[in-house]
Amino acid sequence: MNIPFSTFEHMHLEINEKLNNALLKVLNSNYYILGNYCSIFEEEYARYCGVSYCIGVGNGLDALTLILKACDIGYGDEVIIPSNTFIATALAVSKVGATPVLVEPELATYNIDVSCIEKAITQKTRAIIGVHLQGRPADMDSINSIANRYNLLVFEDAAQAHGAHYKGNKVGALSLAAGFSFYPSKNLGALGDAGCVTTNNPDIAQKVSILRNYGSNVKYSHICKGENSRLDEIQASILSAKLPFLDKWNEDRRVTAKRYLEGITNPLVTLPLASDTDYEHVYHLFVIRCNRRDDLKNFLNNRGIGTTEHYPIPIHLQEAYKELNKNYLPLAEEISKTVLSIPMYYGLKDDEIQYVIDTINSFI
Ligand SMILES: *Cc1c(COP(=O)(O)O)cnc(C)c1O
Repeated sequence: MNIPFSTFEHMHLEINEKLNNALLKVLNSNYYILGNYCSIFEEEYARYCGVSYCIGVGNGLDALTLILKACDIGYGDEVIIPSNTFIATALAVSKVGATPVLVEPELATYNIDVSCIEKAITQKTRAIIGVHLQGRPADMDSINSIANRYNLLVFEDAAQAHGAHYKGNKVGALSLAAGFSFYPSKNLGALGDAGCVTTNNPDIAQKVSILRNYGSNVKYSHICKGENSRLDEIQASILSAKLPFLDKWNEDRRVTAKRYLEGITNPLVTLPLASDTDYEHVYHLFVIRCNRRDDLKNFLNNRGIGTTEHYPIPIHLQEAYKELNKNYLPLAEEISKTVLSIPMYYGLKDDEIQYVIDTINSFI
């Protein structure tokens, strides 16, 4: 059996006609940037997340960068992020001239260990970015209450968690502002680069919408030095076609995850936590851990099962971040050496799930 790590095939086949129509509508509209389809999707996604504003931007990295810019975070400021996140969270902080401060995660949840945040706060700290890694919400109540005590801003990096719920509310609505990516492989993915910012704050919404379009409030009037980072009409139209199916697709991922969690019993393998009512997971990734990760990876790959590592090199050991201390984040390093992401996508069939389970259980 051949099971890829991920594929869009089942999603795209299921709504093939809707996607074709979405593309054709834009082609024939004769209008391709910041038109109706962008506004329509912004309205739909704001409603979906339960927030007042959604601003479409070029990608997830820009979404986070523009949030920080809109809040005047920059040179001399520090922003706390989890040490095991995707590098984009750190790059957003660096792009505005601020310094990312890496805080270790909990091994059980892979999300930031809230009991370690206070030790990382200094006079320069301005904000904390909660990242909902793998599709599991971070403990936002604890993050928000620490932030309140120290007068810090809180943002979310929700790039891996479209549709996930924390204590009844959707991610994207759990902080001052959230950045989403619609990179094709995310739970809600475009056909290219795309992203958005969600917020209930009208000031941030307005600033981000100006910043994304050359700092322009009215055509050819520029009130600040903005960027070019817009959600184009084709991507917006595709996202509108997919959004009504997101909850169904996420539920399918949860069913697959439940089967993995019940079926994988190999004592060499550590499983992720299950979804529960307070932390409703959307399993962007299903990440297992194994001390002999590379052996397990080869074992699975040789038997036709695709895998990936999220992520093999932690941020503080990346060449790009050589200024950061090389040996003070043991959990980030442990995670990078032991994690393995196994097939997780909408449309995995029963016999395929069973084959993955049986193969992992046969690894000795
Ligand atoms: C994908 C991702 C991003 C960046 O999104 P892009 O659209 O690729 O810029 C940021 N943070 C996390 C956690 C991600 O997974």
